[in-house]
Amino acid sequence: MADKPVPTPSEDTTRFWDACNDGRFVVQRCTDCGHERFYPAAACPNCWHTASEEVELDGSGTVESFTVVHRAPTEAFEGETPYVVALVAMGADVTVMANVLAQPADVSVGDSVELLWEERGDQQLYQFELAER
Ligand SMILES: [Zn+2]
Repeated sequence: MADKPVPTPSEDTTRFWDACNDGRFVVQRCTDCGHERFYPAAACPNCWHTASEEVELDGSGTVESFTVVHRAPTEAFEGETPYVVALVAMGADVTVMANVLAQPADVSVGDSVELLWEERGDQQLYQFELAER
C-alpha cells in the first residue's frame, strides 16, 4: 500500500512545519495591521506588509463547514473512508482545512474541535477531534 503524502516544506513554510514537530500550531501576525495569516506566506494578504511575528494558537476551533469523503483519493486512504474533511476556524482570521477524526454522523457545523497531532513519517500533521461536550 502506498504511503500517505507528507508536506514538502518551502522557504516560507519550514518554520511552520518545524513548529508542528514541536507540537505547536503557529501563524504569522502582521506587525503592521495585526492580521493573522495561515497558511504561511511572505506577505500579509490584508496589507502586503512583509514583516510578521509568530503567534501560537491554543488549538481550539469551530467547524465552519465539512464534507465526507467516501471515495479514497489515493490507495493510501482506502482504509480510511468515509472520513471528514473540515474547514475549522481557529481565530478571527485563521481558517484551516484538516480532517476531523470522528464518525461523519457525529460532526456538525458549529461543533467545537481540538487540535491533535498525527505522526506521518518525520512530520507531525495537524488534525482535529471533537471537543468534550
Ligand atoms: Zn497586514
